[in-house]
Amino acid sequence: MDKYGLIGCPLGHSFSVGYFNEKFENEGIDARYINFEIPSIERLVQILDSTPSLRGLNVTIPYKEQVIPFLDSLSPEARAIGAVNVIRVTRKGSKTLLKGFNSDVIGFTKSIEPLLERHHRKALVLGTGGAAKAVDYGLKSLGLATRFVSRAKRADAFTYGELTPDIVREYNVIVNCTPLGMYPNADECPSLPYEAMDGHTLLYDLIYNPDETLFMQRGRERGAIVKNGLEMLLLQAFASWEFWNGKEQR
Ligand code: NAP
Repeated sequence: MDKYGLIGCPLGHSFSVGYFNEKFENEGIDARYINFEIPSIERLVQILDSTPSLRGLNVTIPYKEQVIPFLDSLSPEARAIGAVNVIRVTRKGSKTLLKGFNSDVIGFTKSIEPLLERHHRKALVLGTGGAAKAVDYGLKSLGLATRFVSRAKRADAFTYGELTPDIVREYNVIVNCTPLGMYPNADECPSLPYEAMDGHTLLYDLIYNPDETLFMQRGRERGAIVKNGLEMLLLQAFASWEFWNGKEQR
């Protein structure tokens, strides 16, 4: 039986284990998906040794960057973003080859692309973590100019205090890549001039719990198009499967 799994710590709630085991059952695939909660990334070697039928892994916090030195190769996206959340395991005789991919960028790009219109040329990326880097890469690949928004003063970013109504009208695609507004803190939202938003504004939240975050609600009340991160999550799971078994064997 083939095995797949997730490495990270802690793994309290994980979408992947439920999603993949249900997929295997529904599609009659003889495989199992396992959570590997590991206290340090060095344990990856042990997992590979003790699970010879392991075909692929997902990687979550805090190992998306730490795992890179353990890999034999990286996809161009993973290399550019500096983070890996999917690993394909290939065994050749006594050799084990590991290739790292980034599914955040694919999940995000595929889900925002249908919402983009000609007047969407510039985007604000809220946050500067791993997901923000993937979103920034994805938006640029779709032809948008981007700017990060950070709590810290940085050369390549606005601070929240610097955001004026004019900036929000110019950068009319805004993607929330911070944890602000995620359950149970649903009464929080990024500090933005929401009053400057209108029907030209597109707000995308990587959060999917609650369904509609306060960020989305405040934009929608001004006429903005809004979308949450659920489709991105599902597309990422689909992309993982493709990296492990599909045509995308780059
Ligand atoms: P992360 O590494 O923790 O980064 C979050 C960023 O948000 C930080 O770099 C920080 O940027 C900013 N931030 C953190 N706390 C903040 C606060 N209290 N106020 C304002 N800004 C704050 O997290 P991540 O892995 O990039 O993920 C970000 C979010 O995306 C999470 O909610 C995650 O669940 C979600 N996500 C969803 C999907 C999906 O498929 N839908 C995929 C990946 C991630 P500054 O320090 O520069 O302000």
